[in-house]
Amino acid sequence: MHTATCTARPTQHHEHKPQAHKPQALGVGHQVSLKGPERAEFGKPWHDCTVTVEPLHTDVLVIGAGPAGSAAAAWCARAGMDVLLADAEHFPRDKACGDGLTPRAILALRELGMSDYLNTCAVNVGLRAAGFGQTLLLPWPGGKWPTTGGASPRMRLDNAIHEVALAAGARELPGARAIDVTMNGDHIAAVMFRTEEGLREVRARRVVVADGAKSTLGRVLGRQWHRDTVYGVASRAYISSDRHDDPWISSHLELRDADGVLLSGYGWVFPLADGGVNIGVGTLATDKRPANINLRTLLDTYVGQQRDDWKLQGDISNYASRPLPMGGAVSNIAGPNWVMIGDAAACINPLNGEGIDYGLETGRLAAIALAEHSNLSRVWPQILHKEYGPAFSIARRLGDVLTLPGFLIKAGPIGMRSRWMMEIALRLMGNLVSDEDTDTIARLWRTAGSWSSRMDERAPFGVK
Ligand SMILES: Cc1cc2nc3c(=O)[nH]c(=O)nc-3n(C[C@H](O)[C@H](O)[C@H](O)COP(=O)(O)OP(=O)(O)OC[C@H]3O[C@@H](n4cnc5c(N)ncnc54)[C@H](O)[C@@H]3O)c2cc1C
Repeated sequence: MHTATCTARPTQHHEHKPQAHKPQALGVGHQVSLKGPERAEFGKPWHDCTVTVEPLHTDVLVIGAGPAGSAAAAWCARAGMDVLLADAEHFPRDKACGDGLTPRAILALRELGMSDYLNTCAVNVGLRAAGFGQTLLLPWPGGKWPTTGGASPRMRLDNAIHEVALAAGARELPGARAIDVTMNGDHIAAVMFRTEEGLREVRARRVVVADGAKSTLGRVLGRQWHRDTVYGVASRAYISSDRHDDPWISSHLELRDADGVLLSGYGWVFPLADGGVNIGVGTLATDKRPANINLRTLLDTYVGQQRDDWKLQGDISNYASRPLPMGGAVSNIAGPNWVMIGDAAACINPLNGEGIDYGLETGRLAAIALAEHSNLSRVWPQILHKEYGPAFSIARRLGDVLTLPGFLIKAGPIGMRSRWMMEIALRLMGNLVSDEDTDTIARLWRTAGSWSSRMDERAPFGVK
């Protein structure tokens, strides 16, 4: 491999407007800038670094190999496309998560052909909801989705999905962090990666951006995350438990900090059937009502509250926290030859913080969209909106209400008194209503969703 030192100076900004020129080759003499945050993150501007001069070529470049990116890579490769799957990390790698697999996620994993893998994971039959003096066992509602959920540490799960993508024929580019793009008008012509060997350019016909909640490459492409819409902050850790094989995942809806203040979120204990549980806390916030909490202290408090009940042993390990962009509260998520999926497209349910299922689903939807459409700028946000818009719209409206001071203390005890109401809540909060469901609750939920979408000042996924 030939290398050369790049001597170009950076320009001040990226040009996203249509341009007449042909795609430029990155390399010696090429002028593209790294924006502020990326420069800070990577230490020195890439124009001062060694550039590998032989670019890689691919039809579809997938950036990020979490559930969304690996699913996209697998489905694209299965459809016969030439795919390169790049990730900043080497697999297996960990990811801050509750590790909970909803029935939606179970279905998506089965469709990927991962039933054997699921047989090695913890299985759960529903949710144990606790709080305000009540504990309710709420089975998964079934219908279109399986009647069981699961849990699997992300270190294992993501590695397994990644292997499915490689087995389907995707090539990999491990340890490669996407840091910049070369635009040809509003098309992506090439992506620049920082690797251990130096800089590496990849030229691609189409690009799928699946680089997670922060989506640093998304920022380069103009993605905007609207934090005036409800979002989440959450942390998790692992700990040994004598009840590691409990068949219910547990959520504590009355989450209180060390001073006893009720928070608009929940604590969870998800059994992993491997000697331990995933334990975590998450709360909702908006720009107007920020969470203002120390997640580490809150988790320690919660672990203390659950220690006897869950027969927890020893100290927590692998503490990690992350923000959660929710309910499609992002704009600029597609261009003619590129789309954003998973967390990068804020595909997280605002009412329970789950996003593995939407990552897997949007990976598959992206593969279909790439196969069917030559220009994705308008089509992709519309596809996501059709699939999730109404449910996300009503869910984020309810999520917003949950952040209102005093709401939960009044509504919580009423909701928890009614098993019927909580069963409905589990179905709605888990977005487990399908288009095929014709019962009254499903019809009401769909009507509420369409009403909410029509009322939105800024619709999910920036759809106009
Ligand atoms: C504390 C917490 C608990 C959660 N609990 C649950 C739960 O129990 N169940 C559930 O369904 N969801 C849960 N979620 C949400 C879930 O983790 C995400 O929705 C899911 O990981 C989204 O998958 P993804 O593939 O979009 O992104 P990620 O899983 O974040 O994958 C992104 C990948 O991109 C790579 N990457 C990032 N930047 C670059 C770059 N510039 N270049 C190359 N690669 C890059 C990263 O290394 C990573 O591998 C939780 C989230 C948090 C924070």
